[in-house]
Amino acid sequence: MQKQFFELDPQGDVLLTLRRPNVLKFFWRSPTSDKLADRPEAGNDAPGSVGPEHKPGPGEPMPGMDEPSAGEESEQVQFLLSSRHLRLASPVFDAMLFGGWKESTDLAERPRKIARLENPDTSNSGLQLCHEISATEWNTEALLLLMNIIHGHHRKLPRDVHLDIMTHFSVLVDYYKCHEITEVFAHLWIDRLKPSLTRSYQYMPMIFVSWVFSNAAVFEQMTELAIKESEGPLQTMSLPLPPIVINALEKKRMNLLHNILHILNETREGLVKGTKGCRFDCSSMLLGALIIGMEKHKIVPHQLLESCSDRSIKEIKLILLSLDTPIWHALQDGGYRPKQHSCTVKSMLEPALDRDWRKSKGLKLDDFRVQQRDEELPKV
Ligand SMILES: [Zn+2]
Repeated sequence: MQKQFFELDPQGDVLLTLRRPNVLKFFWRSPTSDKLADRPEAGNDAPGSVGPEHKPGPGEPMPGMDEPSAGEESEQVQFLLSSRHLRLASPVFDAMLFGGWKESTDLAERPRKIARLENPDTSNSGLQLCHEISATEWNTEALLLLMNIIHGHHRKLPRDVHLDIMTHFSVLVDYYKCHEITEVFAHLWIDRLKPSLTRSYQYMPMIFVSWVFSNAAVFEQMTELAIKESEGPLQTMSLPLPPIVINALEKKRMNLLHNILHILNETREGLVKGTKGCRFDCSSMLLGALIIGMEKHKIVPHQLLESCSDRSIKEIKLILLSLDTPIWHALQDGGYRPKQHSCTVKSMLEPALDRDWRKSKGLKLDDFRVQQRDEELPKV
């Protein structure tokens, strides 16, 4: 059996055993690509899921969990911890260690997913342990970060944390409810991580991270990028984000697509009726160029949503603004020599597309926090 051991408190009275470490993984695959996102740590990725919201059926394997190989099953990581630190930092650890954690409780029905008190009376004379608890499948590096923070080993913390580890760390903080003790470090890591996020598959993990740590500015920025740059429908990557957030994101994405559809329809109609384009031959040229260009790029107005199923709105906008316009010359303003006509498909579409683009913002964290609190209030 392979074992790793971390001593967070030499006088610790809690032995936490992490079984099948690092099995939990999240979906990092681009919806349109078979290639894994450029993440060196990415392993055999399948959609992962974690947290109290997820309830697998009886006998059903945890979605996103790779079936353990014999080697993984025997792998263990142990942490020697202090119960005082754990219970102060996390109400979940407090309940596990001192709150009468019972097999009949809701959480304990998912033993593979949760850390639970297995043998409350176990006493290891060698280590003078009072409690033995276990967890499964968490990321070891993220759990060690969390334990170093909880036990005050702040000099052992890195200055930078990779998005993948930050996501796992956020899942742990969300699960063990230890936001207060971690938030100062999390905000520092988020600030340093943010400039490196330029790929659309990175936005959803960062939305989750900013949600967990209530970072309103990053949440708004990342949700805006996800709406505009995600390829096809938005996916949670199996992160435990509340459905209200995902639904709101997808609704905003649909609204922006519908606005583009409206602009295209209005433009075509204006060109047909002659209200757009500076003269008859101009309207005719632009109408032909628009129809041919949309056909070429398979942007079909009455099926725009389907034609955007694997493309981002940003890509659609860029395609529309780069549609070819034929070069043609005409006599202008009573001149004797024909001049190249300056109207283009781009100049006709750009003002309206840019206006809608600027107006479309991300989600406001406060809107959802209030809604979530209302939903959590007991109904009297
Ligand atoms: Zn013109």
